[in-house]
Amino acid sequence: MNVHALIAALEAALGTKAVVTDSKAMGAYLDEMRGLYRGVSPAVVKPANTKEVSEIVKLCANAKAPLVVQGGNTGLVGGAVPDGAIVLSLERMNRIEAVDAINLTMTVEAGCILANVQAAAEDAGVYFPLSLGAEGSCQIGGNLSTNAGGIHVLRYGNARDLVLGLEVVLADGRVWNGLRALRKDNTGYDLKSLFLGAEGTLGIITRAVLRLYPQPKAKCVALAGCGSATDALALFQTVRSRAAEVLSACEYLNGFALDLAQKHVEAAKSPLEGRHEAYVLLEFTSADMDADLNARMEAVLAEALESTQIEDAVIAQSGPQADAIWALREAVPEAQRQEGGSIKHDVSVPVSKVAEFLGLGAELVEKRIPGVRLCAFGHIGDGNIHFNLTQPEGADKQAFLDLWQDTNRAVHDLVLSMNGSFSAEHGVGRLKRKEMARLKNPVELDLMRTLKQALDPQNILNPGKVLPPGEGSQE
Ligand code: FAD
Ligand code: ZN
Repeated sequence: MNVHALIAALEAALGTKAVVTDSKAMGAYLDEMRGLYRGVSPAVVKPANTKEVSEIVKLCANAKAPLVVQGGNTGLVGGAVPDGAIVLSLERMNRIEAVDAINLTMTVEAGCILANVQAAAEDAGVYFPLSLGAEGSCQIGGNLSTNAGGIHVLRYGNARDLVLGLEVVLADGRVWNGLRALRKDNTGYDLKSLFLGAEGTLGIITRAVLRLYPQPKAKCVALAGCGSATDALALFQTVRSRAAEVLSACEYLNGFALDLAQKHVEAAKSPLEGRHEAYVLLEFTSADMDADLNARMEAVLAEALESTQIEDAVIAQSGPQADAIWALREAVPEAQRQEGGSIKHDVSVPVSKVAEFLGLGAELVEKRIPGVRLCAFGHIGDGNIHFNLTQPEGADKQAFLDLWQDTNRAVHDLVLSMNGSFSAEHGVGRLKRKEMARLKNPVELDLMRTLKQALDPQNILNPGKVLPPGEGSQE
């Protein structure tokens, strides 16, 4: 079947409104957030339910035509960008189907926007903890397919840990209904795990049963200034040992990241008087509305001050003050964009090695690119740092960006030498496939290839992503 016949068949199956071929209307599905790629596709299809997803996949499988699933298209590794594939957008599949406040579960369609999932939980008096900068536009299906992390991982886990069941359309169009809402189910292989973090290469997630938590009723946010990353890590240890059960976020910013946020983003103002080499944002939450979290925070910070882990700290005294501290952290990516070219790394190392990594990494990049400015921030409690480099002042942006690949390699080699990961939470997509080939253990790669071959023998689901070039891809 040629592509025109396939599009006609898709229109007959779904109705013409659900198949977009007009290049202007397709624009947003072909763009990619960072402008690293420009997608190419014959059509965007928008199914209304699982049955239609299944029909689309069957038609594409018969025609051997590749498909790329798209959620909110906010991924940072080019995973949802089509390279000639038909785009399957789940935006119409956005129903919250059920909230069970006793089982603490929610059944949703994969196209639900994350913020709507959070709001539905709140309306039912419960809590869905996944939270990240793109939550107003990313979809839960995209979050699960990238195993997204975000700011609450240290308390509640990654997206993978927030799922009890899945419904998945397989590469031949069959529907696997694994929508179980059980906390205990040891009946063979954990199949849902295969699709979580698979970035749309093994199946299409159409519905999910999410794991909920009691709603936090008390909250306390603080910002501490530290003399070094080593002190910031020591502070994390102190906080964890004193208050692990209420600690819900522990975010790190180096001095330069906070400087940039204040320089470029109007809402970003540090509540601390002086400048510090490193900052730690702490958030405590509790389901007990009478919990005196401010008192606990004060006690922990007093201990940290005494042992010189911190130089200064401020505890938010109101909701708006807490929001203002979070705004500082959230301003960093935008501030970095405004400062010029950035070379980015989303890496993790064992938590115990974060400070050592930051020191060695800073030395390494300064040696390679004199004057480069390190904008490091992220989830110190998970060992996950966004180790981003801002171009040296006055440098040529393009000449700096041309160093992207070589710099990535050097930083990733350092990370691997410390038993870390070259992609901690954003996935592999198209951007990091070569690094997969270079750095992933050959036995793991072989197992991945075996799974891909078993579940998608025609290689129609998101080809050219995740697996290294030449492996399970059409190149
Ligand atoms: P898309 O970008 O549309 O797709 C991502 C991948 O999943 C693609 O490979 C796609 O084919 C596949 N996919 C999408 N839906 C499905 C489905 N239903 N079934 C099968 N495959 C599917 N990530 C973090 O982990 N932590 C962060 O803190 C974080 N912060 C971010 C902040 C900003 C401002 C931005 C822009 C991004 C951030 N991200 C973060 C990146 C993050 O991965 C995505 O925002 C989000 O998880 C992807 O969801 P999406 O719906 O946009 O997926
Ligand atoms: Zn992050």
